Amino acid sequence: MFHSFWEYGIVRRAIEQKSITAEAVNIRDFARGRHLITDDRPFGGGNGMVMKPEPVVAAIRHAGDVAPGARTVYLSPQGRRLNQTIAAELSTLPGLILICGRYEGIDERICQDYVEDEISIGDYVLTGGELPAMVLMESVARLIPGVLGGEESAQKDSFANNLLEHAHYTRPAVFEQEAVPDVLLSGHHAAIEKWRLESSLIRTALKRKDLLLQRRFTPDEIKILQQWRLDIEHILQSQSVCGAGALSGDQ
Ligand code: SAM
Repeated sequence: MFHSFWEYGIVRRAIEQKSITAEAVNIRDFARGRHLITDDRPFGGGNGMVMKPEPVVAAIRHAGDVAPGARTVYLSPQGRRLNQTIAAELSTLPGLILICGRYEGIDERICQDYVEDEISIGDYVLTGGELPAMVLMESVARLIPGVLGGEESAQKDSFANNLLEHAHYTRPAVFEQEAVPDVLLSGHHAAIEKWRLESSLIRTALKRKDLLLQRRFTPDEIKILQQWRLDIEHILQSQSVCGAGALSGDQ
């Protein structure tokens, strides 16, 4: 799974240009005995199997030798939920050892003694930690300087500083009678920047109000929000004065 993932897109580019290195460690290679067993029945009974501590810990030690100073992260639905802030935090570390669980997960003593961070990719349960590890890798790799090409792209992506990114358009200028906003064809850079900022604010307000509540607004953004307030007050006023379904005076 990992080798094919590493052959595409941003992660491939990051590996090729040596911004990151990646190695898949097969836990079974660290299992002992004739059957190379990596899982066993849970103490106390019940369904499912649990990943045994010895091979997992031996694999973690091996990974630690390959990537000194790396943080050991267990992908787990019980971990802190991955977001852009966490991806940015992880992108500054010297390395990551990503433990992918299977079955019911890994023996709790591994978590207590070896795992430094637990990360979930969302409140749902998958069969294994491989897809979550790939999600984590890609979200982190694209934040490593140089990986995206234009350094600015990651800065402008959704969630950077609690703002969703503005709307995008490409050719043709008219598609099914829908035209691209004129300003984007104007070549007027300052006006385009202003339109994009307003588009970001509108989208965030409509789709993710929670993000806006955490944002530290710039003076330009405050000006835009104040203008919205005036516009909305104006609209409400026109309703209370002359509109059908007019607001009563005390509303
Ligand atoms: N019994 C576990 C529980 O209820 O918390 C779930 C185990 S799950 C079937 C098997 C493995 O998939 C986990 O050990 C973990 O590595 C991975 N996994 C499943 N869902 C995940 C999620 N939302 N985020 C990160 N890893 C997940």
